[in-house]
Amino acid sequence: MHNRDKPYYPLSAYLRETYGTKVYKITLDIGLTCPNRDGTVATGGCTFCDSETLMPLGFKGAMPIEKQLAEGMERLVKRHGAKKYIAYFNINSSTHAELGFLKEVYATALAHPDVVALAVSTRPDCLGADVVDLLSGISKDYDVWVELGLQSALDSTLELLNRGHTVETYKQAVERAHAAGIKVCTHIIAGLPGETEEMYLETVKLLASQNVWGVKFHQLQVVKGTRMEELWKKGGVEALTIERYAPHVAKALALLPPATVIHRLSGDLPDRFIVAPKWGANKFLIADRIIGIIKESGTEQGACYISEESGRSDESGRSDENLHGTETVGACNRR
Ligand code: SF4
Repeated sequence: MHNRDKPYYPLSAYLRETYGTKVYKITLDIGLTCPNRDGTVATGGCTFCDSETLMPLGFKGAMPIEKQLAEGMERLVKRHGAKKYIAYFNINSSTHAELGFLKEVYATALAHPDVVALAVSTRPDCLGADVVDLLSGISKDYDVWVELGLQSALDSTLELLNRGHTVETYKQAVERAHAAGIKVCTHIIAGLPGETEEMYLETVKLLASQNVWGVKFHQLQVVKGTRMEELWKKGGVEALTIERYAPHVAKALALLPPATVIHRLSGDLPDRFIVAPKWGANKFLIADRIIGIIKESGTEQGACYISEESGRSDESGRSDENLHGTETVGACNRR
């Protein structure tokens, strides 16, 4: 296992190791929508999504990239003395546009000398060969990753969420990205309607088998005005308590490779958007709880991971049989 101060490998550690300093994300909006809203794939979007929630507080709408960057940098310098940045295209599907436009906006962001990385959030069905080629070219000079929403490895759940793509579409997108040398960070949600903890851990195992570079964990957050809220009102979805969510993530971390970069442990949408659960606002307290469970169980990220090549668990070479410490989280109980 890595020699780090946390029992998992956070994005902050990756960035410090890579750039020797803290690196800050600046969210950039290029005015795009999403194929799951504009009719390209479907309308209405995913049942849990309100794209408003992706906008930083006080966001004034799409402005020229240079202006968005300048404002973001000014804020981060004042608050944190920031020196380096990630251009984070995170609003809706940030590859859902003409290639020429994407080329221009990405290049504009990367032209700033303090921008060291490009992060692009999108859907698995929005990562065609042309976009992959573009990002692959950029990755020769910059750190580049795509953030793909998967949410669940069960097609039946994806259908219920109106995701408009299948698990196979996700696998193919990951394969294309990896073949082109592009890092993939995948978003998943715990506590989805009809899913047990076991089903959730199957999703985690899929990510481990795909060897994705990064993972973002979220609890299901029921957002005001969404179809998920309607379902919640009818009793069709139960928001996880923190007591149930934290062990989900502790077990998930044990199943992932030790080198997977953990971009977040929980969702922390502002309270004004949230119907339930209401415990998400303080992500540091949630992280502490997850870390507490991991430490109590004597595990760490990768403790229960078995790579396909070696048939063994993490780099310490431990196997299921001698991972007695995981009994508390039960992560190594593979079925
Ligand atoms: S979650 Fe992503 S794919 Fe789904 S509607 Fe929202 S922006 Fe579109």
